[in-house]
Amino acid sequence: MGNHPPPQPPRAPREVIRRDVGSWISGPSRPLCARCGDPKPDDGNLMHSECEEAETAEALAALRGTEPVRAEHVMAGDTVLIDGTEAEITDVRHGDYWLTTGQHGPGVALGWRCGSSSGIMFRRADDTLDRIS
Ligand SMILES: [Zn+2]
Repeated sequence: MGNHPPPQPPRAPREVIRRDVGSWISGPSRPLCARCGDPKPDDGNLMHSECEEAETAEALAALRGTEPVRAEHVMAGDTVLIDGTEAEITDVRHGDYWLTTGQHGPGVALGWRCGSSSGIMFRRADDTLDRIS
């Protein structure tokens, strides 16, 4: 953000930085996340755990034909992915909730049904869910 590279003379070879997961070689001291490119803990993984989750979610979304939707815009009758499982939203309530992040704030309580199981999950209003399009 706001970190623009210095202007280069027209004939200077451009450095191409690829973030190809398969060919990423982490450096010995400051490993960089293969997804966002930021420094990450040297834990032997290619990327931040949250980046890995996002990567997995994107791969799943591509497979299933889903679209990202803000939790506050989910409607009853929508089908969303919860932990990779398709669930039908049966009930939506907006309000202020204590969220799993430990914060209190605007959120959405989503009633869901999946086969014979059902439940309610709480999401921040600006959280993103995968809706099956
Ligand atoms: Zn990352």
